[in-house]
Amino acid sequence: MSGMDKSVGGAFGEREATRFAPSPTGEVHLGNARTALFNFLLARRSGGRFLLRIEDTDAERSREEHTTAVLEDLRWLGMEWDAGPDREDERGPYRQSQRSPLYARYFEVLEQQGAVYPCFCSPLELEVSRKAQLAAGRPPRYAGTCRNLSPEQRERRRSQGVAPTMRFRVPTGRRIEFLDFVHGAQSFLSDDIGDFVIRRADGSAAFFFSNAVDDACMGVTQVLRGEDHLTNTPRQLLILEALGLKTPSYGHISLIVGPDGAPLSKRHGATSVREYRERGYLPEAMANHLFRLGHSTAEHAFLTLDEMARAFDPAHLGRAPARFDEQQLNVWQKEAAHRLSADEARRWLSSVIPSELDERSVSAFIAAVLPNVVLPADAGPWIDIVFGGPLALQPAEEQLARNAGVEYFAAAANAAAQSGNDLAAIASAVKTATGKKGAELYMPLRVALTGRAHGPELAPLLKAMPPGKARERLARFA
Ligand code: GLU
Repeated sequence: MSGMDKSVGGAFGEREATRFAPSPTGEVHLGNARTALFNFLLARRSGGRFLLRIEDTDAERSREEHTTAVLEDLRWLGMEWDAGPDREDERGPYRQSQRSPLYARYFEVLEQQGAVYPCFCSPLELEVSRKAQLAAGRPPRYAGTCRNLSPEQRERRRSQGVAPTMRFRVPTGRRIEFLDFVHGAQSFLSDDIGDFVIRRADGSAAFFFSNAVDDACMGVTQVLRGEDHLTNTPRQLLILEALGLKTPSYGHISLIVGPDGAPLSKRHGATSVREYRERGYLPEAMANHLFRLGHSTAEHAFLTLDEMARAFDPAHLGRAPARFDEQQLNVWQKEAAHRLSADEARRWLSSVIPSELDERSVSAFIAAVLPNVVLPADAGPWIDIVFGGPLALQPAEEQLARNAGVEYFAAAANAAAQSGNDLAAIASAVKTATGKKGAELYMPLRVALTGRAHGPELAPLLKAMPPGKARERLARFA
């Protein structure tokens, strides 16, 4: 028989309530950031609500600093939540560690139904049983050791001082079906699911329980989360069914992998939002890349979050692993950098711009280099080139400049002094003096002025240079 029915899942269109429910046990990983973004967009596209719930019932692993970082990272990415740990409403509190009274009430309901029982198995006993099952070629699940203990047996264990966990008694012979809005129809047999812990020995609610109860109590309509939770869903449906609570729809998105196809991890480089932020990546760039990871869209242009919300379509969430690609991120990053206002660009590049530089020089410098930098660090060397002392040229560049000749540079230095560093005026003077055109005309200028054969456009770079410096650099070859 099936108590779970096919109406579980699927429906979109109503005002949705979604949530991001991180466990504050580490930095916000790019995969989590994408989950947050998709839930945010899913809510916004229907004018619905986006909730932020901190899943911190595991006191040992949860840290306040990680909760703070979650809030910071989401805000940095431009997401706001309608309710969360710093914005409580009547369905809160939004930290699970503060919801124990609610869990106790629902727990009691299950206890009264006989749907839970105390389990006295030690971690070691559980591990031995797990290994034995694996060795026998069976998928490991709780063997049911404490399922049918008599009241006397339970009493005896308690009196020995063993604090039990509480397990949910999974009904036998059931088929649990639901429609995953990413993966389609799902079917599980309850007999494949071992009785699972819903309350830890220290009395705190365990993940399966608190997560499911909260989704129902907070009115969540769509649960969009990582594929690693797909097999948890039948357990959560069983809990909600036993409690008579409303079930949300579930959708599970594929994990993010690195360029080599392996799950994104430290060995691929930076994996957390904080690392990217600290390197100077811009939130709009990150959001544009995440938006396209496992979500196909006809929108190929750079989008704002509002535009993403309009373009987001849960029917276009993919099942194939999504590849995080820093090259692609850099394409969005360039675009995001080009879109910065003068003030934003100044803040973005502040770490590389010396504070003693005057206003005019800073503005001219930013205008010159902004089109060419992906990260603030890329602008660093150009500070020295534009404002620093004499340049040390590589032999090839030195030769290139020398080959242009003394007459060339005498004309250039003179025009620089007279024109206030106007490239057109300098080039025209050199052309008149030497008859050179094209690369022959411009390359020696570039090399003498910047020490490099490549870089940002020369005219704005020249404008940013102190007048005396440009003349001096050109005169060096005269
Ligand atoms: N706290 C869980 C996690 O971070 C939440 C999973 C879910 O979204 O339901 O993986």
